[in-house]
Amino acid sequence: MDFSLTEEQIAVRDMVRDFVDKEILPYIKEWDENHHFERSVLDKLAKLGLMGVCIPQAYGGAGMDYNTLALVCEELERGDTAFRTAVSVHTGLNSMTLLQWGTEEQKQKYLVPQAKGEKLGAFGLTEPGAGSDVASMQTTAVRDGKGYRLNGSKIWISLADVADHFLVFAYTDKSKKHHGITAFIVERTWEGFSSRPIKGKLGIRAGNTGEIIFEDLWVPEENRLGEEGEGFKIAMSALDNGRFTVAAGACGTIQACLEASLKYSHERETFGKEIGRHQLVQQMIAKMAANLEISRLLVWKAGWLKNQGQRCTREVSLAKWVACDAAWEAASDAVQIHGAYGYSNEYPVERYLRNAKAPVIYEGTREIHTIMQAEYALRYREDKPLNKMLPSWPFEVDGERE
Ligand SMILES: Cc1cc2nc3c(=O)[nH]c(=O)nc-3n(C[C@H](O)[C@H](O)[C@H](O)COP(=O)(O)OP(=O)(O)OC[C@H]3O[C@@H](n4cnc5c(N)ncnc54)[C@H](O)[C@@H]3O)c2cc1C
Repeated sequence: MDFSLTEEQIAVRDMVRDFVDKEILPYIKEWDENHHFERSVLDKLAKLGLMGVCIPQAYGGAGMDYNTLALVCEELERGDTAFRTAVSVHTGLNSMTLLQWGTEEQKQKYLVPQAKGEKLGAFGLTEPGAGSDVASMQTTAVRDGKGYRLNGSKIWISLADVADHFLVFAYTDKSKKHHGITAFIVERTWEGFSSRPIKGKLGIRAGNTGEIIFEDLWVPEENRLGEEGEGFKIAMSALDNGRFTVAAGACGTIQACLEASLKYSHERETFGKEIGRHQLVQQMIAKMAANLEISRLLVWKAGWLKNQGQRCTREVSLAKWVACDAAWEAASDAVQIHGAYGYSNEYPVERYLRNAKAPVIYEGTREIHTIMQAEYALRYREDKPLNKMLPSWPFEVDGERE
C-alpha cells in the first residue's frame, strides 16, 4: 500500500489551498452573512482546470485521478462548504455520471463544456415528498413524439438558479416503481423550465439552493440518459461519486476546525495556563486529529477503488457517513473550545457548525448510511458491477500519460 501523494496531487492540493486563502477566506464571512453566491469563484476554478479535474482530457477535463478530486474537495471545504457543494453537484453528481452513462454525442454536447467549466451542471433528484424515499417521486415523463413531456418539481437543488444543465429523474412508468424511473438531461433555457431560490437556510448560505419546476417541458429523446427504467440505477451510481466528494469535503471541515481550535487553544488562557494544557480540551483536539486521519483514509481508499474501476458503493457510503458525522462533531467541539466567542461570528467556527449539518442530511442521511452499512454487514446487500462502470484511471481515452 502506498499512501503517499504524487507530485501532481501535491501541486493541485497546494494550488487549491492557496486559492482558498486568497479568493475565498478574505470574503467568505461577508458572503455568508449576505447569503451571497459568488459565481466568479467557480469561473476562477474553471480557469485552473478544477471544474473537471477527474474528467478525461479527451472530454475537456484535466485528466487527473479520482483522489485528486478528493483533494480539491477537501481544500475547497476548508474555505467553505458552499464551493465544495458546487463542485460535488457539478463534477461528482453530474459530469461523472455523464462520463459513466452518456453516449458519445451527450459527452460532446454536455460533458465537454461542463468539464471546461464553461457550463454548470446540477442534479435534481429530491422532491417535496421524496427525499430518502426516492421511489415516491411524483415527476413524470410522458412520451410525446420524438421525446418526452416532463411535469413536476425538484426541491433542495444545489445551483438551482445558476446551473445551465440539470440531470433530472422522472417516472416513465410508475407501475414499475424503481424500475420505472428514467434519467434526463435538461437545459435551463428550455420552455417550461423555471427555478426559485430557497431562503432562510441554516448553513451553506454562500451557496445557491432552490427549487426547479418543469411545466410541460419537452425533452428530446437524445437527452435521455441511459435506457428507460435505468434512472434509479443511474441516480444511485451518481450518488457514489457525489458522496465521495462530500466525504472528502468533510475532511476539509475537520481540518478547518482543527486549525481554528489549535490557534485558539494556544491563545486563550484560563487558570493561569493555555487552555490547550487542559486535558478535556486536549480530548476534543485529539478526537478531531484522529477523525481527520480516519476520514481521509476512508476517502482515499474509495478513491483508490475508483481508480481501479471497481464499484465501491459500500466504501463510499462508509466514508461519507463517518466523515460527515466527524465533521459535525469537530465543528461542535470547535465552538466549545472557543467558549462564548465560538458562539459569535467573530470566529469562523459557528459557520463551520452551521455548514456541517447539511452534509449529514444530503446525499443520504446519517440514518440511511447507517442502515446501508448494517445491511452490508448482514449480507442483505452487496455491490455487483454495473453494466456501465465509471472508467478506471489512467483513462484509456487519454492514452499514455506524459
Ligand atoms: C443544502 C442542501 C442541498 C441539497 N442539494 C441537493 C441537490 O443538489 N440535489 C438533490 O436532489 N437533493 C439535494 N438535497 C436534498 C437532500 O438530498 C435530501 O434532503 C435528503 O436526501 C433527505 O431527504 P429529506 O430532506 O426529504 O428527508 P426525509 O427523507 O424526509 O427524512 C427525514 C428524516 O427521517 C429519516 N429517515 C427517512 N427514512 C428513514 C428510514 N428508512 N429509517 C430511518 N430514518 C429514516 C431521515 O434520516 C431524516 O432524519 C439537498 C439538501 C440540502 C439540505
